[in-house]
Amino acid sequence: MSQTATRPQADFDLVVIGGGSGGLAGAFAAAARGARVALLEPRELGGTCVNAGCVPKKAMWLAAGLAERMALAADLGFRLPEAPPALDWQVFIAHRQRYIANIHASYRRRLDEAGIALMPCRGTLRDAHTVDTDTGVRLRTGRVLLATGGHPLRPDIPGAGLAGVSDDFFELTRAPARVALVGGGYIAVELAGVLQALGSRVELFARGPRLLSGMDAEIVTMLQANMQARGVRLHLESPVAALKAGDGGGVRVVHKGQAQGVVPEPFDCVLFATGRRPNTAGMGLEEAGVELGERGEVVVDAWQDTSLEGVHAVGDVTGRLALTPVAIAAARRLMARLFGGQADAKLDYDNVPTVVFSHPPLATVGLTEEQAREKHGAAVKVFTSNFRPMMTALADSPQRSLFKIVCVGEEERVVGIHLLGEAVDEILQGFAVALKLGVTRAQLHQVVAIHPTSAEELVLL
Ligand code: NDP
Repeated sequence: MSQTATRPQADFDLVVIGGGSGGLAGAFAAAARGARVALLEPRELGGTCVNAGCVPKKAMWLAAGLAERMALAADLGFRLPEAPPALDWQVFIAHRQRYIANIHASYRRRLDEAGIALMPCRGTLRDAHTVDTDTGVRLRTGRVLLATGGHPLRPDIPGAGLAGVSDDFFELTRAPARVALVGGGYIAVELAGVLQALGSRVELFARGPRLLSGMDAEIVTMLQANMQARGVRLHLESPVAALKAGDGGGVRVVHKGQAQGVVPEPFDCVLFATGRRPNTAGMGLEEAGVELGERGEVVVDAWQDTSLEGVHAVGDVTGRLALTPVAIAAARRLMARLFGGQADAKLDYDNVPTVVFSHPPLATVGLTEEQAREKHGAAVKVFTSNFRPMMTALADSPQRSLFKIVCVGEEERVVGIHLLGEAVDEILQGFAVALKLGVTRAQLHQVVAIHPTSAEELVLL
């Protein structure tokens, strides 16, 4: 008899592989509808978002924001002992990790209350109804949800091993004096802002002509100006060809655009932020009949169904919109369909609002001006407000905000909202509701402004 035939077996309605945002949301939503659920997660609960993404990043961003506010306060007349006062990282990290430990504990308690079997192990898919754990248990199940997330990509260039990836940022215990970030997306921009505000001298190397290539160009141009005003050195159209160990320590960045014969100064820390890849290797997916795409992502249709009936996937592993709330929303709708009798439930991936926690933050929903012109041509109208928010104006700081709406047609329906400036991370959510409901510019004008705020600009454009 084969070893697998003698494995102990357990029966479930749903086996979830991966205990990040999407997997947890799926497990809770299925269990709430009476399904017997097993959740496989060999590491900490919460996945990238809780452990090496949104949550610790936002904590660091908040600390960086305090540093900036203290500098503003000093400019405005507050007598601080030193300006800006340095952060004691050990103290702050203790607060950050306690916050994260509370999230872990809360998840464990909720899983227990929901009767979900949490298994600290990896799973291999044998067929649509069989998952083997690396602890030797065979799980028989009605359905499988794949939610294994992704991992940072390390480009294949000479010396790549000399650099860290975004996960390593969370291991830092102080601001390195000189930091190089390679990449021009969300993570590179966010880490650049945080590290610069906390005292590092940051240089960012992007291969393209601008940062955040999918976002509205005008807004990104303004962000770049703000980053430069804060001291971040941007190297655009500067693909990194190699990393070399510095003679006296540190890491040298060899990039296109570097003057011939110049030996670059070494950095104390180099981090890649060059995109992420789905976690699909070694799980038996293709062998079982689950189709994978070019980047190793699980191919899903609009219903989060994979090519293997009974096997579904949500979140970063699908390679679509790698955002925690998207994974959660997709998982909840999927479970409403599978276990809640809501036959039409599926996530609408259009008009998903998102925020880059840059300095200042950038918030966006809907079509960029470029996308709108491509789709709607001459019917597009754009309205912008370029202003200094009150706090920075009081301190006579050069930082400006840029608010922009992209409208279409005679009725001026708003199809895109793009905001750069203080508090836009909090402002956008409500306006995203309005956009999703089809708001027009005239309807925005019907609302009386709240004065003096930044948000009022959006009802006055
Ligand atoms: P992004 O996709 O945002 O950006 C990747 C960057 O790396 C781009 O600038 C890209 O350049 C560049 N790049 C890709 N491959 C290479 C390469 N081989 N050499 C050099 N540069 C390369 O990825 P991130 O890693 O920054 O973030 C991953 C995802 O996580 C984001 O897309 C987002 O969905 C999510 N995220 C969300 C956050 C939030 O909600 N606030 C925060 C952080 C991440 P090019 O543009 O030329 O392709």
